[in-house]
Amino acid sequence: MKRTVAVSRAVAGDVAYARFRPVGEHVILTNDAGRYHLMPRLAFDQMLAGELQIDAPDLARLAEEGFLRSQPRVDVLADRLRSRRGYLMQGPSLHIIIITLRCDQICGYCHASRTNLDSEGYDMNEETARAVVDRIFETTSPSITIEFQGGEPLVNWPILQFIVEYARKKNAAAQKSLMFSLVTNMSMMDDEKANYLLDNGVMICTSFDGPREVHEDNRHLARASSYDTAVHWIKTLNDRYAARGLDTGLAYVNALLTVTRATLAHPRAVVDEYVKLGLKAIHLRPLNPFGFATKTWERIGYSGEEYLQFYKAALDYVIELNQSGIEILEKKLALYLQKIFTDTDPNYMELRSPCGAGVGQMAYNFDGRIYTCDEGRMIGKMGDDIFQIGHAVENTHREAVSHETVRAMAAASYLDAVPGCSDCAYNPYCGVCPIYNYVSQNDLFGKMPGSDWCKISMGICDHLFGRLAREGEPLRRLLERWTREKDRGAAYCVKDGSSMTY
Ligand code: SF4
Ligand code: SF4
Repeated sequence: MKRTVAVSRAVAGDVAYARFRPVGEHVILTNDAGRYHLMPRLAFDQMLAGELQIDAPDLARLAEEGFLRSQPRVDVLADRLRSRRGYLMQGPSLHIIIITLRCDQICGYCHASRTNLDSEGYDMNEETARAVVDRIFETTSPSITIEFQGGEPLVNWPILQFIVEYARKKNAAAQKSLMFSLVTNMSMMDDEKANYLLDNGVMICTSFDGPREVHEDNRHLARASSYDTAVHWIKTLNDRYAARGLDTGLAYVNALLTVTRATLAHPRAVVDEYVKLGLKAIHLRPLNPFGFATKTWERIGYSGEEYLQFYKAALDYVIELNQSGIEILEKKLALYLQKIFTDTDPNYMELRSPCGAGVGQMAYNFDGRIYTCDEGRMIGKMGDDIFQIGHAVENTHREAVSHETVRAMAAASYLDAVPGCSDCAYNPYCGVCPIYNYVSQNDLFGKMPGSDWCKISMGICDHLFGRLAREGEPLRRLLERWTREKDRGAAYCVKDGSSMTY
């Protein structure tokens, strides 16, 4: 069985602390500054034996990337580490507001545990919404993203508008970088709402599960086709961004795919659907055992192995399309690539160390309860409020962020302290989710050898580095394009040709 182990100083001689892992005929080495080096197994063995020739290309690269104690470049490595962990100095920037739990669509995997449209008592009211925005503006983060979630947020349209306008008013004094994002199934979208969202720079995300039969199998709308509805509004909104003169490389509907058992047989067809719609990114997200998915797992769930097989086939096809000139990126890999190829971090909450729970993001339930993240809120809806860290009306932001649960989550997701992760070669690029651990292993602290989360993360990195080792520069150059930094927020801050400051 392949193992990932830390290089012992005593054995390696001049090699500084590094982690390594065999990948095919190569070995991947990484260090705390996030630099990597792929070397043939023979050269690696020679290095450990102190027999690597002084002019070997591997040696030059090892020195350049900070792997040698005799050429430490400590200041450069420290700068890289500081840049990569910059998110630790900011405070919560992502604020998810569940403005209603009601929804008109029924999805087999609904992580949110929605309620029916005619249920009562599941909408956020104005008093709670005002308190939530007040708490959000107490964050120390210089940037704020307010994300509307549900249920279906368009069901509680007046409160969405209230929050957008009240937040913008508060920001006139706070002067933070303020963005809005809406996660919607599009079923209640109409021209008036679309224009309001575009006028106010609200980014729009929607679920799109690929081919018609898969999408409709996963997501049921009572009086219309969920597939036709999603396709219509993705096209319409993207056309409107273009008509308003926005940069369509940045301003577009963000489509999200959730992989279910029905998706597994169609790795190429789902990618083709995204290309057909002109979408430039596909995010092949695995199903999580939260919400309704816990009840339907037998029917729609799968093993980590099955997901990996699907993921690799779909990813290889995405790369093949890029090689033939069709530009589309896979978002999950792009997040890893930014961490692997650059000294910046995408601040994706599940892929940081520690994760974003309470320190990078917070979720606000329709009744004002504050949770570490939306997933924590989902567990609350399942009857276990362990991840609640406050209440928007009763507590300050500081009290919520200082809650003992936030500290426990940080400890459980700090990779240098997690057995298995602390000496894993993929430690600088990875992240773990204490809530996933809690649900799947009954403990915030995960046991990585038995975790599908780890199996998937490791499988993706093995696949990537295996291909990089075999295919070298041409593949690296192609994938490097997926890491070019794009400020999507800036694309939305344009109205009638002039800049809007929120
Ligand atoms: S979760 Fe990530 S860092 Fe931890 S052992 Fe698995 S692959 Fe390595
Ligand atoms: S606990 Fe899990 S879902 Fe919540 S922020 Fe951390 S990684 Fe994300």
